[in-house]
Amino acid sequence: MILIVFFIQHQSKHEIHILKTGKYYQLKINYPLLHSKEIDSEIKEYVYKNKKEFLNKVSKIKNIEKSGKYDFIVQYQMSHEDNVYHIRLETHVYTGEKYIRDDKSFHYDVKNKKFLTLNHYLKDESSLEKLSLLSYYYIMEYGQNIGKSFAEDIVKEKTIPNIENFIHFDFKPNGFEILFPFYEIPNWKDGDIKIIIPYNEINELLKPQYQKKEKEILKEPITPENRNLGKYKNKKLIAFTFDDGPSTSTTSSLLDGLRKYDAKVTFFVLGNRIEANEEVLKRAYKEGHVIGSHTYNHRNLLLLSDYERMQEIKSTNDLIEHVIGIKPILLRPPYGNINDDIKKLSHMHTVQWSIDTLDWKNKDKEVIANEIVEKAQDGAIVLLHDLYQTSVDGALLAMERLEAEGYAFVTILELARLKNIDLDYTTSYFNFSN
Ligand code: ZN
Repeated sequence: MILIVFFIQHQSKHEIHILKTGKYYQLKINYPLLHSKEIDSEIKEYVYKNKKEFLNKVSKIKNIEKSGKYDFIVQYQMSHEDNVYHIRLETHVYTGEKYIRDDKSFHYDVKNKKFLTLNHYLKDESSLEKLSLLSYYYIMEYGQNIGKSFAEDIVKEKTIPNIENFIHFDFKPNGFEILFPFYEIPNWKDGDIKIIIPYNEINELLKPQYQKKEKEILKEPITPENRNLGKYKNKKLIAFTFDDGPSTSTTSSLLDGLRKYDAKVTFFVLGNRIEANEEVLKRAYKEGHVIGSHTYNHRNLLLLSDYERMQEIKSTNDLIEHVIGIKPILLRPPYGNINDDIKKLSHMHTVQWSIDTLDWKNKDKEVIANEIVEKAQDGAIVLLHDLYQTSVDGALLAMERLEAEGYAFVTILELARLKNIDLDYTTSYFNFSN
């Protein structure tokens, strides 16, 4: 047997290459050189520490395998925007049995000589929470796409809002990339999990200077008609809400009628109805009404898995954003069914109601109007459905009578503002009465 032992160390302007074949092992090392002291020494330290461990292990091995040499490989990936470099070093070590991998990411600002974490890019604390939800969703979706499903609890754990879970990130042309190395996911043998979160979703989590544009999905938001709330300060206020729409004919008829009472209302729309009724939804938003989500398929969220819950919510939010240019922040869960887990997943404000007209059942405008007028009080939230002309007529009839009693008709967001309520993600709002 002939033993070839050789050693090459080559330094180019931006890279170090080391290739060494010993009797029982080989080293193949590549790492970048940035000509900035701190980062270069950090990288070198990482590489040499691992190399030392490897050589130590090799020196202790008594029965060298005949099948092959022990192996130490370092390779890297690097990208940069302006003066910040994103570098990920990948180490593969074989000392028998199987390769062990390790990853190390650096995000370094060469101009300001600073190591950055994702915190540097995130807008505020809630951004990390939101990123955690989005990552969870995209990993689950990735699993579905390749026909393998992950255990929800494992993915949850790997995406909890801890900055340590989001070390391997990069800004790619098509979105924000996060890598979850395969070895960090128990029982996962199908390679690294790389997710790309499109910029239209990640932008709201980033500080303005780091937000990026994606040509195809960027849409100019429609500017809604805004009204001065000053004159409502001393009025009795009611928020009318309409679920299960939009519906081109009945919603349009409602929008026409609302003008007469200077009324603004809140629509909780179904995702699966948006495409067919896009124009009326756009009109409602333009005219100053608020668009909230009633989920995509009107399924009972309590009976779904977390991933299905997010699908119901996220797909609807994406569609609404596609039509009006902004994502909704209000959620009315179908049947009012919600729990703390779903609230956390949705990261939206949950709006219930205090006056249930049962309009879908009684379909009589007089009965509906009477029900509302009888139960009306300052801060109430009325539940109706703009799928039925009787509901539209009943609502307008109630407004006519309530206006005479000194009521004004506002959206949920206006009502919260006028009552000085800061909406949070954990409360279910049934009314805004004092
Ligand atoms: Zn409904």
